[in-house]
Amino acid sequence: MDIEQLALLVKKYIEVSKKTELKPGISYILERSLKIDALRTLIQKELKGTNDYLRLFYMVFFLFEGDSMEVAKYKAFNELYYLILQEVGDKEYIEMDCDYCGGTGRIECDECDSYGFADCSGCDGAGGFTNYADGYEDCEECEGQGEKVCDYCDGQNEVECSECEGSGVIESEDEYVFLNNEYWVFYGDEVSDELSNATNKSNNELIDAYDILDKIRGSVYLLKTESESVKLTLYDFEAEFGDYYDAQGKYSVNSEYNLNDFDLSKSFNISKFSNSYVIR
Ligand SMILES: [Zn+2]
Ligand SMILES: [Zn+2]
Ligand SMILES: [Zn+2]
Repeated sequence: MDIEQLALLVKKYIEVSKKTELKPGISYILERSLKIDALRTLIQKELKGTNDYLRLFYMVFFLFEGDSMEVAKYKAFNELYYLILQEVGDKEYIEMDCDYCGGTGRIECDECDSYGFADCSGCDGAGGFTNYADGYEDCEECEGQGEKVCDYCDGQNEVECSECEGSGVIESEDEYVFLNNEYWVFYGDEVSDELSNATNKSNNELIDAYDILDKIRGSVYLLKTESESVKLTLYDFEAEFGDYYDAQGKYSVNSEYNLNDFDLSKSFNISKFSNSYVIR
């Protein structure tokens, strides 16, 4: 079965199963189709990889929009783009391994030099006393040994790290800003133009990406969001993007590819996600 026949089949299925008169968006088409075992199996058997799955679903989308098969196929095979956006997310102090104990939460006992025993304080380590009346007597406190188990570490040779109170982690000195990645597929170079115009106009290269993506609602597909994917110290962040509070929630366009030049199969595949199958 070729991709055109598959597109007609998927379209037919969506027509039968959709409950409103509205034209379906790309997310709807994709998620509904992959949810049906037989349809998903057929698509995976007939098509080569993630790029072609997406082309198929976009063809169905364009057909619903009223395009002819020829136009739908042309658009799906030539004018789909893949975009990586970075959202300026939260800023916070992070937990790091404690330098003092190397993250173990324990440090050597200073009191006994990690020997576990210490000179007996009763006899100053001598083990006994000599007096003129009775001659030599063992020290009762250490029973003549001259040393006792170290009180400080209880003979364990190490004690809780005071720097991190034994947890092994401390809060970073610097505050960090998280940048969250979003991966999108969309149709048309108009969007690319708007994104780069907005980027050029902005003084810090950050934009309200959703203002632009919203305009083409229905033909944008969010492949994946990765929260906390990259972090910069607040200092480094502000050196690059200016004041954090002005930048928070904005996006930078990290990279953009025409799907013809980028194989998504390496990063995304069809996978089960709760009750439905989606591309992740
Ligand atoms: Zn520590
Ligand atoms: Zn003693
Ligand atoms: Zn000790």
